Amino acid sequence: MKVMIYDTLETGLLHFGEEEEHPFGAVVPPIVQTSLFTYPHFEQRLQGTNPHGYDYSRVSNPTVALAEQKLAYAEGAEAALCFSSGMGAISASILSNVQAGDHIIALETNYPPALQLIRDYLPRFQISHTLIKGTAIEEFERALQPNTRLIYLETPSSMFLHLQDLEAVAQLAKRHSILTICDNSWATPIFQSPIALGIDLVTHSATKYLGGHSDIVAGVVAGAADRIQKIQSFRSMIGSILDPFAAWLLIRGLRTLPVRMERHQRNGLQVAQWLAERPEIERVNHPGLTSHPQHALAQRQMRGYGSLFSIEFHPIEDESIKRFVDSLRLFRIGCSWGGFESLVLGWPMEEPQDGKRRWFVRLFIGLENADDLIHDLEQALETAMGRKE
Ligand SMILES: *Cc1c(COP(=O)(O)O)cnc(C)c1O
Repeated sequence: MKVMIYDTLETGLLHFGEEEEHPFGAVVPPIVQTSLFTYPHFEQRLQGTNPHGYDYSRVSNPTVALAEQKLAYAEGAEAALCFSSGMGAISASILSNVQAGDHIIALETNYPPALQLIRDYLPRFQISHTLIKGTAIEEFERALQPNTRLIYLETPSSMFLHLQDLEAVAQLAKRHSILTICDNSWATPIFQSPIALGIDLVTHSATKYLGGHSDIVAGVVAGAADRIQKIQSFRSMIGSILDPFAAWLLIRGLRTLPVRMERHQRNGLQVAQWLAERPEIERVNHPGLTSHPQHALAQRQMRGYGSLFSIEFHPIEDESIKRFVDSLRLFRIGCSWGGFESLVLGWPMEEPQDGKRRWFVRLFIGLENADDLIHDLEQALETAMGRKE
């Protein structure tokens, strides 16, 4: 294949891996929707050398491989693997790298199902863990044990928007021969490159920004070729590769990722800044705001910002919050994020300090016009506060 060097991800994500012409001169690559690849000669099957390079789609598939090439390129990694979900990628990356007697350092604020794997499931196999907040490097140093094998990161975390200093954690981990994994779903390769900062493996829920259209469930892990090969054996065994059609939709999503992220960033900051001025709201947790306690770190290790953030209300009646959420017309109520559509979700939380109940609302800012979204939030706040019917 012709090796092309692209100066930017904008150009590269469109064309990388597709330099050779597709069948019929088609602009878009075909979906190789097949479970099986057969061999011209029995001898080639005996030798395991199919001239086309493929054997069975649980192990590898050309459409999935194209998505993987683009994702490895985007993350600045040697190789990548696609999975049938983000959790498939996370579980395989963790499980293929630990054994009985090992210890994992993870975050209190990790994506809940990932935390469930580490906290509730792995202890059955004598794999222990320490959970930390992770905003200071000293916490990682204190959590180290002689048997620490893995550090599992997510920055910024998708609920509380806490950051970890990737370069500092990577240096600490390397000194102790500990594997580092970072969930990069929030920032995407457009805004953050954990591998360039020394992290070993990067995972994504490609269901979110990478797919970008709320029409697939997919995951990815990227890293050095030898590490990825080990995870590929695990993927074949556990049977969690991505389906070719979903891989094809993921390729389509990746082409517009840079353009979409630019708009998500702009919309997200505009809405977050507007909300920060509202009297009902105590705090806006968005690392792009100067009020965020880790804003300096955010500026140092990211090139831009995703549009998922949370707001904390001043003490407020439950009924008012319900009215607020139900009055929103452009924000749908739902748990995922990263698609074209704006979303809202909320939880009441007891503050450990004063025992007060506070409402915590997570907003995902989609690709709508930001002024439209702000008008919608304004009318919903006015309705919630009983200033408008
Ligand atoms: C959604 C999500 C995941 C899990 O991805 P799935 O595709 O739903 O399995 C992992 N990490 C983060 C930060 C997520 O938001």
